[in-house]
Amino acid sequence: MTDVLVSGLTKYYGTKPALRSLDLSIGSGEFVTLLGPSGCGKTTTLRCLAGLERPTAGKITLGGRVVVDTDRSLFVPPDKRHVGMVFQSYALWPHMNVAENIAYPLKVARVPRPERVSRVRELLEAVGLTAFERRQVTALSGGQQQRVSLARALAARPGIVFYDEPLSNLDTKLRYQMGQQVRSLHNQFETTSVYVTHDQEEAITLSDRIIVMNHGLIEQEGTPEEIYDRPRSAYVADFMGFQNIVRGTVIERGDERVGVRLLDSEIVLGAYADADLSLPLGAEVTVAFRAEHVRLAPAGSVAIGRVRGTIKRTTFVGSGYNLLVDARGTTMRIRIARSELDSHDLSTPAPGEEISFDVNPRRALIVADEAGMSRPHATQAVRLPAPIR
Ligand code: ATP
Repeated sequence: MTDVLVSGLTKYYGTKPALRSLDLSIGSGEFVTLLGPSGCGKTTTLRCLAGLERPTAGKITLGGRVVVDTDRSLFVPPDKRHVGMVFQSYALWPHMNVAENIAYPLKVARVPRPERVSRVRELLEAVGLTAFERRQVTALSGGQQQRVSLARALAARPGIVFYDEPLSNLDTKLRYQMGQQVRSLHNQFETTSVYVTHDQEEAITLSDRIIVMNHGLIEQEGTPEEIYDRPRSAYVADFMGFQNIVRGTVIERGDERVGVRLLDSEIVLGAYADADLSLPLGAEVTVAFRAEHVRLAPAGSVAIGRVRGTIKRTTFVGSGYNLLVDARGTTMRIRIARSELDSHDLSTPAPGEEISFDVNPRRALIVADEAGMSRPHATQAVRLPAPIR
């Protein structure tokens, strides 16, 4: 069953569009994250879903009930949508204690007292705050306050819960623990969850599906693995931490393998592209790969996909080294694990040294850039590669 259905959602602030006719469908019980950089429209989407923002145009259906339809001037206010909401700022009532905060939505919904008491107990236990029942919320740590806010959002048993960057105010370790708690509450209370964050790691570890937004539209959606491993555009690749995004020309085309000669360079990389993707020889394309998807090669050796360059900067990152390499005029960022250095009997890489490495052709992807997949030399239409699993 579909729990959240959005069509043509548009929001203007003055003359500036924040959402540009967005379509979205979220299944019952799904945990979906809206991910993207600041200003891409994820919070505006969430606030429209929760009823905290009035869309300029569009239709929103929650749990089978239409709550927004601008054609019919229909707008159901937030308190009538039967949804839960968790904010970055916790938004607790400072004059109430922990139990009173959690019970508040139940009071408003006129849930009888005995049931209120048992539900508050159940939630206190679920978030591990039973011992803090009578504590004023102002006397709690940030993590504890956010747990009260999670419990309060779930108190009225909403089918859908919206999370607006709920972990951003917490330190790294607590963020991880709280993230796990959010996901286990989602499972325990069998809610549908829509979660907003700009943190890719949070999105990957919590979600069933990730929706990457760009300027008020969906850029790509997929499972965490698809988004992490197979970004389809340079925008998503860049956001998901592909440190190398380079341009080149197609010089060879196999089933899924493409040989790309980098622009203004003699370097030829092997890259992955969908077998049915039309990429004619001579097409100008963008290739993206992660710093860690390289392997050291014997110095001075030659092979397709092998890059020779000079180390410009070395940064120790614990498990290995991040290297900035000048490959005959093309800058590349690579990461070499210590174990790999050991197996090559090499010591610490130092600036000025020559280095040779192979870029893994299964992990170097042809991605669309802002102008589309290819440029002037392409003679045929091209389409985006489908994600592989
Ligand atoms: P962030 O992570 O920084 O909150 P976001 O991806 O959630 O970013 P939104 O907050 O949805 O993005 O904002 C989308 C666009 O709408 C931005 O350009 C923002 O400046 C603009 N915007 C958001 N709220 C308002 C407002 N109340 N008035 C005017 N412009 C707004």
